Amino acid sequence: MKKIPISKPYITREDISGVVSVLETGQLSLGPKHTEFERFFAKKIGTKFAVAVSSGTAGLHLAMLAAGIGPGDEVVTSPFSFIASANCILYVGAKPVFVDVDPETFNIDPKKIEAKITKRTKAILVVHIFGQAADMNPIVKIAKKHKLKIIEDACESVMAEYQGKKVGTFGQSAVFAFYPNKQMTTGEGGMITTNSEEIYKMCKSLANQGRSDNIQWLDHQYLGYNYRLDEMSAALGLSQLRKLDFMISRRRQVAGWYNDFFKNYGDIVTTPKIAPGNTHTWFVYMVRIIGVNRDKVIKILVKKGISSKPYLPSIHLFDFYKKRFGYKVGAYPISEKISRTSIALPLYVGLKKEDVNYICHQLINYL
Ligand SMILES: *Cc1c(COP(=O)(O)O)cnc(C)c1O
Repeated sequence: MKKIPISKPYITREDISGVVSVLETGQLSLGPKHTEFERFFAKKIGTKFAVAVSSGTAGLHLAMLAAGIGPGDEVVTSPFSFIASANCILYVGAKPVFVDVDPETFNIDPKKIEAKITKRTKAILVVHIFGQAADMNPIVKIAKKHKLKIIEDACESVMAEYQGKKVGTFGQSAVFAFYPNKQMTTGEGGMITTNSEEIYKMCKSLANQGRSDNIQWLDHQYLGYNYRLDEMSAALGLSQLRKLDFMISRRRQVAGWYNDFFKNYGDIVTTPKIAPGNTHTWFVYMVRIIGVNRDKVIKILVKKGISSKPYLPSIHLFDFYKKRFGYKVGAYPISEKISRTSIALPLYVGLKKEDVNYICHQLINYL
């Protein structure tokens, strides 16, 4: 029987030899690779600076700290996301204030933001979900009007564009992630991008135990963390970055095959929509199925050797969010409806057209 995973990293000889050559030098941390990775990444996104960190979650934590967000502050964000984008607000003692999402793009709905702004609101944490940018023009306008900082969670959307401008360039800082299911991987790893030298220096220092550039190794100026990315991961990141455009073009091709197939089944399968002016970089290919028990569909697909996932649960309905903030079912109806009906199908570089056809046939046959 076929065995099709939901995601799979694309690792070539070049990746392997890059990692092995770091091992051969013996310099496994704080070497030239992580600096090179930072510079190349900043150039690729189009920001002045980038800071490599040990995960996307670590990057989000530092972005919150560097923005000066703390106890008593509120941060507006999306409930339809991976939990780390809200948890990072809790890490610094602030309160996530959710705003429901757009039913087509699943990104935060700018029309609903202003109603949630209070005297305590300090920032908007914009999540670009699944490989597509949020609607940034109105968000930037609202942030200016209310003097709020913008921090982007771009962990799922590397290289995605909004009206010709890449995600990661809109906020005071932005965070990317390189877990093996993302568009590019370093194993575990992440990156913060910024155009501010001050934010850059702060993030660099906080990721390295609160050290500053020009001081002794055992001098610590702030409460810092060890969120450093090691050299093997940085070497992998560099070789992955060199083929990122290729990898994204292959992801687009796979998404196109799915779209073509599902075109004739619009009444039972809702396919992803791309907002005008956006380019999509396909972290996942998520469809919504109408009138059928989604969890049952996932089980049926497993029996056919196809792995799929209920992406994503709405964050406010996790137990500790419900307990802490009193959220109930119905608080964010659009996010919740998407959570109930969505299935992420396999999508990775190297997935064959015949596999996509097999997946689509199995799904449609059941429906
Ligand atoms: C993957 C992801 C993260 C966190 O990345 P890790 O590297 O796994 O810590 C944060 N936010 C979103 C939206 C993500 O998809």
